[in-house]
Amino acid sequence: MAKCTICNRTSENGIRFLQAYICHTCEKELLELKATDPRYREVIEKLKQASYSTTF
Ligand SMILES: [Zn+2]
Repeated sequence: MAKCTICNRTSENGIRFLQAYICHTCEKELLELKATDPRYREVIEKLKQASYSTTF
C-alpha cells in the first residue's frame, strides 16, 4: 500500500506519476482542475517535490 503524495492518505487503487503516487481521489481532482486554479499549482509543486526528493 502506498501513501498518496498529495493528501498523504494510504490508498491501494492509485496511480504512479513519476516518483509520486496519487490516490484515486486526488487523480480525479487533478483531472478536473483547471491550470488556472491555484490548487493546480499547489498539486504540481507537491509532485515536483516528491520527484526531487527521491531522484536527488
Ligand atoms: Zn490523495
